[in-house]
Amino acid sequence: MTTALHPGAGTARPGQAADQPYAYRRRPLEEPDWRRLPGWRDVTAAEWESAQWQRAHCVKNLRQLRALMGDLLDESFYADLERDQAERATMSMLVTPQMLNTMDTSSTEAFHADPVRRYMIPVLTDRRTDWPSHPCSARDSLHEAEMWAVEGLTHRYPTKVLAELLPTCPQYCGHCTRMDLVGNSTPAVAKHRFTAKPPDRLGAMLDYLRRTPGVRDVVVSGGDVANLPWARLESFVGDLLDIDNVRDIRLASKALMGLPQHWLQDEVRAGMERLAAKAHARGAHLAIHTHVNAAQSVTPLVARAARAMLEAGVRDVRNQGVLLRGVNDSPAALLDLSFALLDEAGIMPYYLYMCDMIPYSEHWRLAVWEAQELQHAIMGYLPGFATPRIVCDVPYVGKRWVHQLADYDRERGVSYWTKNYRTGLEVGSGGGARGADPDALTRRYEYYDPIHTLPEAGRAWWRDRAAEEEGAAG
Ligand code: SF4
Repeated sequence: MTTALHPGAGTARPGQAADQPYAYRRRPLEEPDWRRLPGWRDVTAAEWESAQWQRAHCVKNLRQLRALMGDLLDESFYADLERDQAERATMSMLVTPQMLNTMDTSSTEAFHADPVRRYMIPVLTDRRTDWPSHPCSARDSLHEAEMWAVEGLTHRYPTKVLAELLPTCPQYCGHCTRMDLVGNSTPAVAKHRFTAKPPDRLGAMLDYLRRTPGVRDVVVSGGDVANLPWARLESFVGDLLDIDNVRDIRLASKALMGLPQHWLQDEVRAGMERLAAKAHARGAHLAIHTHVNAAQSVTPLVARAARAMLEAGVRDVRNQGVLLRGVNDSPAALLDLSFALLDEAGIMPYYLYMCDMIPYSEHWRLAVWEAQELQHAIMGYLPGFATPRIVCDVPYVGKRWVHQLADYDRERGVSYWTKNYRTGLEVGSGGGARGADPDALTRRYEYYDPIHTLPEAGRAWWRDRAAEEEGAAG
C-alpha cells in the first residue's frame, strides 16, 4: 500500500507553504475510443451504446480476449490467465466491452498493471504463492446462507434484509464475496444453486416481509438486478412498495458502471419513473447502489446512466466499492474515485468494503491497520456526507467501521469485534449452526489480516499452526 499521496508531500522548505498531501482538481470524464482495439475497429457509436450489443460482445474466455486484442498482448499473459482459470479463479470470466474499454491496453505491461484488469481479469502471477488463501477463509465467508429466513433472503441485521433475487451478473468480479453462489462454476469452485424456482423464491421473500413488520429496509440484490428482466424486477419492487413496513429499498447493480447502457434503455428509465413515483407517493425511499472501484471506470456513459436514474426520481445513487490491493489502495486513488463519482456523475461515495476472506483473495486483501490509515488519509477533502466509510464486514457480526474494533493483535493479525444486535441466527429463528446464542452481544468475533502483512513472529506462528494441523490431520 502507498500511503504517501505524492512525492512532494512533507518536503517543503522552511518558510514555504507545504503542499497538501492530495491536490484536488477536476478531471473531465473520458470514454476511451474502443476502436483502438482490433476486434472493435468497426464498432459504431450506436452499437456501443446498445445494451444488447454490449451483452452479446462480453469477453468470456481466452479465445475471445485474443480475438479482441490481436497481438496487443504477449503470449505470456494468455498463459498466465489460462493457469489462473484452471487453478485458482473463483469466478468465471465475464467482462463487458464497457469495462474492458477502460483498461490500459497500450502494452502487456500496462494491461497487467491496470487496476481494473487486476480485479476483473486476474492472472496467476497476481496471486500470492506463500498464502494464496488465509487459513480461516471460507466460501460464503459472511455466512449469509446460514442467515436465510427463506431461500436467498438474508436476515442479519434487526431492521434490514438482503434479497438475493438471482445468481448472475452482466460482469463477474474476481473477488466476488458471493463466489459461493454467483456465476458459473470454475475448476476451483463448484457453485451452490438455489433450489426453489424463482417465482416461488421471490414469493416466499415477499410473504416473509409481509409477516415481519420489524423489517423496514430491503436491499434488492443478487447477483446484479440488471440481469433480471425489467418486468420481473418492477413487479417485485412494486410488491415491496405495497408492504407498509418497507421504507427503504436499495437496488444493487454494478452494471450501472459495468453496463450503463442497460440503465439507459427507454423501458428501464420509464419503469424506474413508475417505481420512483410509487415510492414517492408512499413516502418510501428508492435508491440504487452500485460498485465502482477505480476512477477510470467513471466514464461519460456511466455519468449519463446515473443522472438518468436520478432524473427518473430515485432518491440517490450511491457507491459501495471494495478496497483492493493494487486497485485502489492509496489515498489518491480513493479520493480520485470519490471526486469522479461525486462531481462528475452525481453518485454518492458511501462505503468501501474491505475485501472479504474468501479463498484465493490474499493478494487483494488489506490489513485492518492499512484500512485505518487510508480512512484517516481521506478525511477532510470531501464533504462529510460524501466521505466514504471504510468498513470491515466481520463474519457473524456485519459491517463495522474499521476504527470500531475492540482489540487487535497486530503480531498475529487478529482483530476482535463486538456487536450490539442479534442476527437472525441468534434470536433462534435461523436455526443454523449457532442456534439461539445467549452470549451473542458479549462475545468477541474475529477478523484476520493477510499473513504476508504480519511481522515475522506472526508469520512464524501461522506457519507453526498450519504444520500442527497438518500433523494432526495426517
Ligand atoms: S457485480 Fe457484485 S455480485 Fe456480481 S460478481 Fe461483481 S461483486 Fe459479485
